[in-house]
Amino acid sequence: MTLEVKQIEKSYDNAPLLRGVSFTVDSGETVCLLGRSGSGKSTLLRIIAGLENAEGGQVLWDGRDMSDVPVHQRGFGLMFQDYALFPHRSVEQNVAFGLRMQNLDDREIKKRTGEMLDLVHLTGFANRKVTDLSGGEQQRIALARALAPHPKLLMLDEPLGALDRTLKQTLLDDLRQIVRTACIPVVYVTHDQEEAFSIADRLIMLNSGKIEQVGSPEQVYRHPVSLWVAEFLGLGNIILAEKNGGKSDTISTQFGEIPFAVGSGVSTERELHLLLLPEVPGMRISLEKNPEENEGSYMLITGQVTETIFLEGKYRLSIKTNGPSLRFVSQTQFNTGENIRIEYPIGEIQCLN
Ligand code: ADP
Ligand code: MG
Repeated sequence: MTLEVKQIEKSYDNAPLLRGVSFTVDSGETVCLLGRSGSGKSTLLRIIAGLENAEGGQVLWDGRDMSDVPVHQRGFGLMFQDYALFPHRSVEQNVAFGLRMQNLDDREIKKRTGEMLDLVHLTGFANRKVTDLSGGEQQRIALARALAPHPKLLMLDEPLGALDRTLKQTLLDDLRQIVRTACIPVVYVTHDQEEAFSIADRLIMLNSGKIEQVGSPEQVYRHPVSLWVAEFLGLGNIILAEKNGGKSDTISTQFGEIPFAVGSGVSTERELHLLLLPEVPGMRISLEKNPEENEGSYMLITGQVTETIFLEGKYRLSIKTNGPSLRFVSQTQFNTGENIRIEYPIGEIQCLN
């Protein structure tokens, strides 16, 4: 069971919105479309669902072109943030909606709705009014309704958008488990990086209607392909550097000159953007009491700690330098006001396009 989206093109008022978007999603895999508001994510889902036509490209299910298959025959489940529940109907009637469309008999419908309510941890809610439920409970009901008719594919469009952070986290944990159990391809749309990182097997980074990068959360985090990805994900430290004319194997950075071979495929501009992740193997952080000579294989950064936050056993440091403010993660404690030195392994520096 595979969804394949091939070279989708879509524009509104002659302005291109989706430009050659292609990806596949396999059974049991959750793919997360991540991009700014307005980047065309919802439009793409509507095209997959058959609610909207693309100007070019194809939506294939197990290799079969879906263009002549109407929405209700595709068997795709949808859960949209604004896909409101029917307010005057009970929880059970809401969950049963898709099952009634399939003309199942009452006993079967009751059984399946009961199973779905168990799945979303709302056993016993069948006869409640949906208007009496909290926002989080309503989203669970919407999920139960989407999954009840055994969809071949589940698409979720910012399903947790309206909820507060703590509730989001709990629901995300549940959602991850529930979609794994369903063992169908899942396309999850969000503009929220944290949400995407907690749910995705694979991230698809959408920038102005074009796919900028595809990869596991770890791949994308450790090796963002572009300045846009690094900035969008808030990966942190981006510093400026300049190629040195003639001596091509050194560059001038905001923290001094370092030996650095700029890889092929990287910007031909003189000015470079370098990414320093907050935590990399071999990085050393120490108090700047007795500044030692810096060895060649490190970039030396000095600065003052402006904030230190203890989180999950580590210290998150904000550091004021002569250049930009930087963030690093330390295993050992440093206090606000302390002057520190960071030796960042040059081999871990990444050059962004
Ligand atoms: P996202 O879900 O990523 O926020 P959307 O797919 O909702 O993005 O929409 C992207 C842009 O496409 C919108 O900002 C809007 O300008 C345009 N758009 C979407 N739907 C329509 C429409 N039916 N008519 C005209 N423009 C539209
Ligand atoms: Mg949207």
